[in-house]
Parts: sequence; C-alpha cells; structure tokens
Amino acid sequence: MDLINCPRCHTPSPGLMDVKVELQNFLLLHQSSDGLFKKVCSTCLQNFEDSIHDLSLIQNRMSAADIVRMQLWNKRLDLIKEALGLMKSEAYSQALPKYEEYLKIIEQVLGVPSASISSQSFAGAGKSEELPVYCLVLWDLIICNDGLNEAAQRAAADKMLELVKVSPLRKTLSDRARQYQKKAKNKKFFKRLQKDFRNDRGCYVATFAYESADHSQVKALRNFRDTVLIQSGFGRTFISAYYLLSPMLVKVLRKIPGARKFSRIFLDWLIALLPN
Ligand SMILES: [Zn+2]
Repeated sequence: MDLINCPRCHTPSPGLMDVKVELQNFLLLHQSSDGLFKKVCSTCLQNFEDSIHDLSLIQNRMSAADIVRMQLWNKRLDLIKEALGLMKSEAYSQALPKYEEYLKIIEQVLGVPSASISSQSFAGAGKSEELPVYCLVLWDLIICNDGLNEAAQRAAADKMLELVKVSPLRKTLSDRARQYQKKAKNKKFFKRLQKDFRNDRGCYVATFAYESADHSQVKALRNFRDTVLIQSGFGRTFISAYYLLSPMLVKVLRKIPGARKFSRIFLDWLIALLPN
C-alpha cells in the first residue's frame, strides 16, 4: 500500500483525513497554526479533536457569529484579488461592487461602521496589518468612481486622508494622486486631493512656531515624520498622540507671551538633532 507523508507530523500514513472547515476555523481562532492544514493523518486529527476538547474546557465554544466573522475575513482576500484583476483591465464598474463588499466585511469584522473606522479600530481588533490594504482599497474606490460619483469619491478620499496620517503609505498615495491627475476624468477632484494632502500638514506646533506651514523647518519635521517616524510602531503611536494633543497645546501656547520664540528655539535645537 502507498504511504503518504502527513503534512503536519511528516509520518508516513496509509491515508490522510479531511480537517473540517469548522475545525480549521476553530484552531485558527485560537491562534493555532494547525488550523492551516486541510488534510492530516488520523493521529493528528485526533490531536486536533483533543485540543478542541481542552480549549473548550477553559473557553467557550466558538459561537456561530465568530464562525461567520472568520469566514468573512478569509473571503476578503479573494475579493481583493478579483478586484485587483478587474482594475488592471480597467473594468472599474465591475471592481466597484467587489470593493464595496470588502468594506462591508471589514465593517462586520471590526464591528465599526465604515464612516467611524479609525486606525484604532484596526489596532483594537488586532488587525493593524490590514490598515494599508484598507487605504489602498479606498484609493481604488476613488479611481472607480472617477467621473461617475463625486460624492462617493469624496467620502473615500476623506477617510483615506484620515487613515494615512499615521501610515507609511501617505507619501505613496499622495504621489499617486499627483500622477493620476493627468488621466483623470474629474481633474478638479484630483487637484483638490493633492491640495488636501499638502494641507494635511498637521505639524501644528511647528506651524505655530514658524508662522507658516511652508517654512523650511516645518518641512524638515514633516519629512522626518513621513520617512522615519512612520516606519516604526512607536513612531506611529507618537504621531497619533501628537495629533490628539498638539491642537490643545497650541491653544495654550498662543496665550503665553514669548511662547512662539521659545518654541522656535526648542524646535531649531530638535531639528538640528534629526538625521538627514
Ligand atoms: Zn500527522
């Protein structure tokens, strides 16, 4: 009789058994990579079943809602793949419903309506790595709606601008907006989008200190944010905290005589320390 190696334990075995989808999902939900196996030997399958029994002693069984969420989460990749293929052949009207379905899935998995989704919604659900994908989908939605539905374009753009504040994608998308303008149907929209990227400068304290968002020192800080800070988890947390606190800080600083001069001295010193 032919023996087949079990993909999990690599033991030659007379036949492999199917791992039920519910069982795969259950294992994945409990952070076990065992959930990735579709077929295993009978010993491994028995192990899986035992581990479910152990887990269910300390944890509630996976609820029906969890199973649905897990299946949706897996489905999103297929949707993206299909949509990307359609985008490539410029079949925008066919890509659109795929992306809309993707947004609905994210809404359901994060438990937050699309309009209220923030970078914290992703972090809170342990799905931070999905945030760049989400931003790229929003970008594609802007393209799909170009010349067709400006309101939808605007809504996607506003959300994208909000989410990329703390993402390394910010520069990529701002470059794309600039390049796409040439072939855009609604050129005015893309012109404004570029302006939005520029205006979304956010260096509140620096802008207060130097009295202009175009001052070379403000540009130096912005550049540091977009190239260095944004690369690390700590940096992104810092940026988020900064956005949260700095408008308040500036409000206070405005009331203190000499605060502008002092902020300038402090920032000059800080900028001199930054890597180029
Ligand atoms: Zn095995």
